[in-house]
Amino acid sequence: MSELRKDPVINRWVITLDDKSFKPQTDSKIPSNLKVLDNTCALCPGNEEKTGKTIFSVNEPDGIWKVRVIPNNHPYLTVETQLKRKGVGIFDVISGTGANEIIVDTPLHNVDFDKMDTSMVVDVIKTYKDRIMDLKNDTRLEYVLIFKNRGIRAGSNSPHLHSQLMALPVVPKKVTEEMEASKEYFYFKKRCVYCDLLENELQMKERVVKETEHFVTIAPFASQTPFEMWIVPKAHASHFHKMSESEAADMAYILKDSVTRLNKALNYPSYNYMIHTTPLKQPDQDHYHWHLEIMPRVKSIAGFEWGSGFYINPTLPEDAADFMRRV
Ligand SMILES: [Zn+2]
Ligand SMILES: [Zn+2]
Ligand SMILES: [Zn+2]
Repeated sequence: MSELRKDPVINRWVITLDDKSFKPQTDSKIPSNLKVLDNTCALCPGNEEKTGKTIFSVNEPDGIWKVRVIPNNHPYLTVETQLKRKGVGIFDVISGTGANEIIVDTPLHNVDFDKMDTSMVVDVIKTYKDRIMDLKNDTRLEYVLIFKNRGIRAGSNSPHLHSQLMALPVVPKKVTEEMEASKEYFYFKKRCVYCDLLENELQMKERVVKETEHFVTIAPFASQTPFEMWIVPKAHASHFHKMSESEAADMAYILKDSVTRLNKALNYPSYNYMIHTTPLKQPDQDHYHWHLEIMPRVKSIAGFEWGSGFYINPTLPEDAADFMRRV
């Protein structure tokens, strides 16, 4: 039996069905036979000079790096490019001003968060915060999108665990859509839609994957893809980078937990995640609530999705949540 589900934040419909014959596409899963150090990998320790200057790092007391931020070797956007806006006929153009950085999450070549100590994941979260706070000083920039491509189906050719950052002179459309929709909800109800959503999910329990002191992982009601998860702070917060130390530690714990469950449930699938937070120049917002979205790449996007903006999800989010709670 199928149904159309509407995302409670933005007006996106998903066709949800319970298709037991659906086989998640994990053909390009992360190889399990990797070495701890690979001399041919540009992200591995020992090859630092191949990747150019270190923008930021978290180091051991002896100076060896634990997390390292480097420029993308073929950056799409650079801070050296002067910001210029122009009109060409009816078209608008902005120069490629921004930043495109690689965050090497660990010196170990063969791990994901599930094999790392929580303290190592804390260093990654702190690096995300630190990079946002640094790039915020460049007043030409409007947004810093932090994301991860893991595995070939998710757009990454390197098995070495890394995140990415794109600093942009504009606010991404997805974030604008979420902000406008949540503003409208707030206008009528005087409440944050994400806070309401969490309260509802914590009462119902059926889509909650994990709850910690400060965070909840849920399988969203209108999940676009099987085993999609959102990590949402329980207390209202609009800026990711304003998280406290204890919240960052808890965030690392629940992120590791979610990735571990995903890897167990689907045997190391390709996945993306991205952090949606309030744009750099905007003050705290009562209506917008930052979150991290995890998208396993186990189903192809086809013509219907491209043409309609709808998604078809063959796995009920309630079943996915139940499965991930138990793995
Ligand atoms: Zn490596
Ligand atoms: Zn909220
Ligand atoms: Zn979002």
